[in-house]
Amino acid sequence: MLVAMRQLLDEAAKGGYGVGAFNVNNMEQIQAIMEAARETCSPVIVQASRGARSYAQDRYLYHLMLAAAELYPDLPTVLHLDHGNSYETCKSAIDMGFTSVMMDGSLMPDGKTPSTFEYNVDVTQKVVAAAHAKGVTVEGEIGVLGGIEDGHGAGGTGLEHVTDPEQAAKFVELTGVDALAIAIGTSHGAYKFSHKPDGAVLKMDRLIEIHNRLPKVHLVMHGSSSVPKELQDIINQYGGKLRPTWGVPVEEIQLGIRNGVRKVNVDTDNRLAMTGAIRKVLFETPEKFDPRDYLKPAREAMKQVVAQRMTQFGQAGHAADYQPIPLAVVAARYAAQ
Ligand SMILES: [Zn+2]
Repeated sequence: MLVAMRQLLDEAAKGGYGVGAFNVNNMEQIQAIMEAARETCSPVIVQASRGARSYAQDRYLYHLMLAAAELYPDLPTVLHLDHGNSYETCKSAIDMGFTSVMMDGSLMPDGKTPSTFEYNVDVTQKVVAAAHAKGVTVEGEIGVLGGIEDGHGAGGTGLEHVTDPEQAAKFVELTGVDALAIAIGTSHGAYKFSHKPDGAVLKMDRLIEIHNRLPKVHLVMHGSSSVPKELQDIINQYGGKLRPTWGVPVEEIQLGIRNGVRKVNVDTDNRLAMTGAIRKVLFETPEKFDPRDYLKPAREAMKQVVAQRMTQFGQAGHAADYQPIPLAVVAARYAAQ
C-alpha cells in the first residue's frame, strides 16, 4: 500500500532504525526493491529523480509503482520525488500521486547554483503548504551536497557547504518540513572519497551536533552508497574501467541511524551491482542476445544489495508493525496543527 513517508519515518524513529531510499528508473529496479523488501519484511521507500522521470516518463513510473503496491499489499511503500528543483516539479509529483517529495531549495532551479537561505525557506514553505494539504510528506535540504548526479548538484567535495546546526533549526521551524537532508561531506555519484573516509572528510560529528540540536527531526543522509570494492572489482574484471574510489562505510551510516538518521539514500551501489552483472553475462557468453539473459541477473544482483542494506539499516522485519494511515487522514492532521 502507498503511504506517506512521514508515517514510515515516525515509525522508524520509534523503532530506532533507518530506512533505505532506493532510486528507480525502470521495471527491473522496482522489482528488485520490492522483492528485497518482501524477503526481509521491510517498509519501502522508492524514489525517482527528475532524471528518472524524464527517462521513464511519469505515467510509466507511476503505474509501475501502483503495480508494486498491488502486488505487495502488505508492505508499506512510499513513492518519493528525489531532489525536486522547483515548486512546479514538486507540485506535478504531488498531483500525480507521489506520497512524498523532496524540495531541494539548497540549489536554485538550475540544480547547480547554491541558493540563499531566504530563497530556500520561501520555496520550501510553498511546497509544504501544497503537499501537506494532500497528506504528502516533504523533505527539505539545508547545506549543499557535493558531486553531480543526473545533472543535479553543485559539484565539489561536499565540504564547501556543510550544514550549520543553528541554520538547520531555523529552517525546520520556518518551513515545517517532515524530514531534513543535511550536508556532512557526502556527495552524489561513485567518486565520493579518494581514500577510506575519516573525520576530516565525513563529518559525523556535525551530524551528531545537528541531532542533539534537533532530536525530534528525521534526518536524511544523501550520497550514502558504500561503493563496495567487490562490486567495483566485478565491473573491472569484465572490461569496465572504474578508478579506485570509496563510499560511506555502512558502520558510519549505522552511527548516523543511532543519531537521528531515518532515511538513507542509496543509488550508486545498485547501479554498480546491475552493471557488474550485465558485464559478466556479456563477457562470459558473448553469443547471448536476449535482454532477459542479462537483465535477470542484473535484477537479482540489485535485489541482493538492497536486501543487505535493509538488514544493515535495521528496517528488516518492520513492515507489519503498523497499519497504513490514509493520506486524507494525514492531511486532516496537518490541517489541525
Ligand atoms: Zn541526493
